[in-house]
Amino acid sequence: MAFKVIIIGGGPVGLFLANGLQASGIDYVLFEKRSTIPPSTAFGIFLWPQVTRMMHQLGLLDSLRKVSHPMTGMIHSMPTGELLSSDTNFSKSYKTHGYPVVVTDRGSLAQVLLSGIDKPEERIHTGKQLTNVITRPDRVTVEFADGTSFEGSIVIGADGIWSTVRNQISQYAPDGLFLDNPYQASYQGVFGRAPLLEGITSGQGIEVHGDGWLIQAFPSQKETHLFIYKSIKTTNERVPFSPNVPEELIAEFANVRLTDNVTFKDLWNQRFAQGTANFEEGVVEMWHWDRIALIGDAVLKISPKQGVAANVGMESAACLTNKLAALLQNNPKPTTQEVSKVFSAYQCELEGKVSTWQRLSRFNLDSAVSKNGPRLEAMGAVAARVPAIVSRSFKFERVPFADQNAADMPWVH
Ligand SMILES: Cc1cc2nc3c(=O)[nH]c(=O)nc-3n(C[C@H](O)[C@H](O)[C@H](O)COP(=O)(O)OP(=O)(O)OC[C@H]3O[C@@H](n4cnc5c(N)ncnc54)[C@H](O)[C@@H]3O)c2cc1C
Repeated sequence: MAFKVIIIGGGPVGLFLANGLQASGIDYVLFEKRSTIPPSTAFGIFLWPQVTRMMHQLGLLDSLRKVSHPMTGMIHSMPTGELLSSDTNFSKSYKTHGYPVVVTDRGSLAQVLLSGIDKPEERIHTGKQLTNVITRPDRVTVEFADGTSFEGSIVIGADGIWSTVRNQISQYAPDGLFLDNPYQASYQGVFGRAPLLEGITSGQGIEVHGDGWLIQAFPSQKETHLFIYKSIKTTNERVPFSPNVPEELIAEFANVRLTDNVTFKDLWNQRFAQGTANFEEGVVEMWHWDRIALIGDAVLKISPKQGVAANVGMESAACLTNKLAALLQNNPKPTTQEVSKVFSAYQCELEGKVSTWQRLSRFNLDSAVSKNGPRLEAMGAVAARVPAIVSRSFKFERVPFADQNAADMPWVH
């Protein structure tokens, strides 16, 4: 059997990995449990220059531009409307990195990523809920709830926070290495999508800072993405996404001023999508076992405050793809041990950076909801670290990239 990667999960990270493998000449197939991709999820997504650069490399940046809006800056204020600060830092991203920070919605992102797939009917299979992974010395078999199965060389679990692949790994690995729930939450989240109202400017993010809570509004070209973070007692109870947001959960925010003319309820009352979930955080101790590896939310959860979790997952996809491509170049049928070594190198290369993003994002959030008003200097210190971390991000090493945009801060890779 020729080397074939089985990707489980058609979220942003699984779809991005599919594009990266394809561009790097590695055969793959992707299985998604939902009946369709994309989803109609209730929240937007930030893409940072490390990802917009790779979208350029993959030939997808023009399509992304059509469905996203570049971020320009942030306004910070108190619930009464008192302005604390205003900046244009996001717009500096072009000059610093050659690429923008953009905001889009997940459905549009999925469409862009799907548009990059050659012969999607052969490679993307929906309605396939993974139930079992069986590893053998030279291959893996994945089994689905509909009774079908498929064989490949390795499995990459991009199946999100409650990963079935992670559960399956635990039957092969020593006891205790893969926990049932490796994450915990200290914040509850509410999110929604509402129209653009007068006084809300596309690309200009808004943060309103309360005692133990934060509201974010990120206006894209056609809508406003709303997020509430509310501090809760730390828990590792599983509280999955729910589209039902109880009125009492948002009542206290109704009259919070987002701008001079717009309150939270002005937007919320016109929402066309909503949801609530706990914001889990954590990094799994072990990212792989045997011929199976994990990626994206299946292995790391970062507070959404910084808007980087999916970006980190996508960068991980580049790192993993590069290492697989190097292995396969002279060795088209690697042994389990050789594959394991690649997975181990993938984890080693990324886990320090992932933990840094996770700590920065959490510190940023804790600073934003401080009792005596936000610690803007601390948040500024986090922001100051970001360009250097971004500039160390990976791209696809085996994919030509002659027309990379010029940047003031050189990319390390
Ligand atoms: C409110 C909020 C805002 C956020 N904002 C940002 C942001 O601005 N920027 C950012 O980078 N990140 C953001 N994040 C984080 C981001 O959403 C996640 O990091 C990202 O969705 C992870 O992508 P993924 O593909 O790993 O997992 P998921 O998006 O969870 O996708 C997993 C996929 O696997 C499928 N699946 C699950 N189980 C199975 C199975 N057994 N068989 C087959 N398929 C299966 C699922 O149906 C799903 O399609 C935010 C998160 C939240 C909650």
